[in-house]
Amino acid sequence: MPAQIIDGKKISEEIKQEIKLQAEALYNETGVIPGLAFILVGDNPASQVYVKMKGKACEELGFYSITLKLPAETTENELIEKINAFNSDPKIHGILVQLPLPSHIDEQKILQAINPVKDVDGFHPINVGKLVIGLDTYPPCTPAGIQELLKRSGINPAGKHVVIVGRSNIVGEPIANILLQKKEWANATVTICHTGTKDISYFTKQADILIAAMGKPEFIKGDMIKPGAIVIDVGVNRVEDPSSEKGYKLVGDVHFESAYEVAGAITPVPGGVGPMTIAMLMKNTLKAALVQVKAKHFSN
Ligand code: NAP
Repeated sequence: MPAQIIDGKKISEEIKQEIKLQAEALYNETGVIPGLAFILVGDNPASQVYVKMKGKACEELGFYSITLKLPAETTENELIEKINAFNSDPKIHGILVQLPLPSHIDEQKILQAINPVKDVDGFHPINVGKLVIGLDTYPPCTPAGIQELLKRSGINPAGKHVVIVGRSNIVGEPIANILLQKKEWANATVTICHTGTKDISYFTKQADILIAAMGKPEFIKGDMIKPGAIVIDVGVNRVEDPSSEKGYKLVGDVHFESAYEVAGAITPVPGGVGPMTIAMLMKNTLKAALVQVKAKHFSN
């Protein structure tokens, strides 16, 4: 029986509506509008698209947002100065520096310049540490979106074997940390595969929930998946497609056609994890606004 499709677009719309209502309530109570600053360095086309989509989501939800576009030759110090200005701007509750940065800029140095209270991407080491030890934090948006997709699809990871292919700081490692916590909608047994793993299929075939976050187009084929498994495809890869107007199409890290015949449920690309990432960014920004309103209240 073909897989059930996990519709990330539909689920993310529901979440955004909930956030919009909560933001309206915050405004009615305090006059505060959640504010998000985007910093885009250079002219990476994919980054431009991502920032535009995130800005559009802010607009839909009635958030304040500002996009600062800086030239590719911006220095580390110039970028840190801009971050500091947003760190002390009371209209801005969240700061997002779009990655990747040009190679002359030390990414970690930049992420650590963001005030952890405004770190809505959840990449500051303080927030990463909190996530690992199970404290309340801003969870990175893509992993948080994956957990929320599972939750809203009624798929409880508790007691399941989750196999993750990829160990990046933004997807693989944090989703592993989230799903192995002794908490609701987590408590899974987690295996992480990477380029050092011998015989990836051996592990992927054992997965009750398989999360592909590799950046390798259509790498995971149907014969690498256990029948009935839940497949979460995080990959977003551009591959040539002369039949499309743009000359390319987007595919995931999973070969959809063969996986669809074997899996119990699967996320499509596009329309799966991607829209959830943006919804979770909005959720973190609202949370940041609430945290900062509360902190101001207690300091007065
Ligand atoms: P990344 O930083 O390049 O990390 C890729 C990970 O996959 C690495 O840990 C790498 O292992 C592992 N890997 C690569 N090839 C492999 C192979 N042949 N066998 C086993 N492991 C392999 O990528 P990322 O930032 O995590 O992103 C992964 C994918 O998700 C990309 O397609 C990206 O565009 C997409 N993405 C989507 C969203 C969304 O919102 N939908 C958000 C973020 C990322 P090593 O560590 O050993 O090198």
